[in-house]
Amino acid sequence: MTDLLLKNIRPMGRETADILIRDGKIAEIGAGLDAPGVVVEDGQNALVIPGLVEAHTHLDKTTWGMPWYAGRKGGVLQDLIDNERNERVPLGLDVHRQSMRHAIALIGTGTTHIRTHVDIDTDHGLSLLEGVLKTREALAGMIDIQIVAFPQSGLMVRPGTLELLDAAMAAGADIVGGLDPSSMDRDPKGQLDAIFALAQKHDAPIDIHLHEPGELGAFTMELILERTQALGMQGRVGVSHAFHLAMVPPARIEALMERIAALDVSIYSTGHPSANVPSLKAMRAAGIRVGIGCDGIRDTWGPWGEPDMMHRARIVGMKNGFRRDEELELLLDTASGAGAASIGVAGHAVAVGSAADLTLLAGETLAHAVVLQEPRPLVIKGGAVVARAGHAVIEAP
Ligand SMILES: [Zn+2]
Repeated sequence: MTDLLLKNIRPMGRETADILIRDGKIAEIGAGLDAPGVVVEDGQNALVIPGLVEAHTHLDKTTWGMPWYAGRKGGVLQDLIDNERNERVPLGLDVHRQSMRHAIALIGTGTTHIRTHVDIDTDHGLSLLEGVLKTREALAGMIDIQIVAFPQSGLMVRPGTLELLDAAMAAGADIVGGLDPSSMDRDPKGQLDAIFALAQKHDAPIDIHLHEPGELGAFTMELILERTQALGMQGRVGVSHAFHLAMVPPARIEALMERIAALDVSIYSTGHPSANVPSLKAMRAAGIRVGIGCDGIRDTWGPWGEPDMMHRARIVGMKNGFRRDEELELLLDTASGAGAASIGVAGHAVAVGSAADLTLLAGETLAHAVVLQEPRPLVIKGGAVVARAGHAVIEAP
């Protein structure tokens, strides 16, 4: 672990101060700090926030840095899933190389924690997971990576997938994934009972992609909440997308959000531009732990996205109709400190005793920093400088 004296920064946009880091943790915050023998970095009056948190992405999917992929299909979910599963090998999508490119780009743009879903299916077995596990090992100390074993092609509809998920958890995945239990598997009880049992077996959290619209999504959400309560899994269940929370009548949304908060289920939103997305302000006001993520970037599904949580925060902000400074500050918090809490990382803050996982931002205020498209001046992980002027200190393959 590392010692560092970070001079001339504005913690959370407040007055200029210094931060002394000892053994990878924030030891002191104050004006005019001195620490003989400790390496000094001059922050040049940049803002400093807890490192950005990518709460929902797919490191095993991007074509970043590869030749342009021109084979993307139309918008039917099953076509997109099948296209990706069939195209991976012919495309030469080397998951270790691609996940390195993706994760190193995220380091360069100030992300210190990633939760990634990794496809587990009966065509590829655990091979995609192996590529991401290698990346996690290669980048240990530079970025923390949580891995969700994700049944992208369905669970009950593809026999053998549950056994592969079990093997993935034994091989190093951290979190049991799920996908549209009603619309994909047409067997919500089957899928949910199976993944909750697997999570109990491995003493692991759960993260379920739930795109199901309207009342169908609300029904599935109720099944998830029932199981969370019955199995005492409060604080260990997350639901990604949850489009239904923007589609059913307002009174139903309010009741669902109240129950989601009471059972401490996290919601991950990507601000999906072509879907109804739950209101960030309503979720935060209800007391729900919320994280945001880029989802897949430039993959076989879609051409859009950047490996940059500030870019994603702007999309989420626009989708939520944010204008006022306090809304932009809420957004930045959801992309950093609160986002960390949503993936089970406690105490992610610019505070004495916290891990020195810090991102410097250009801007006059936190709100200004959200809209400025400027490189991050400095990124610090565990007290070590891991990126400067928008670029990670290691080269991507
Ligand atoms: Zn996703």
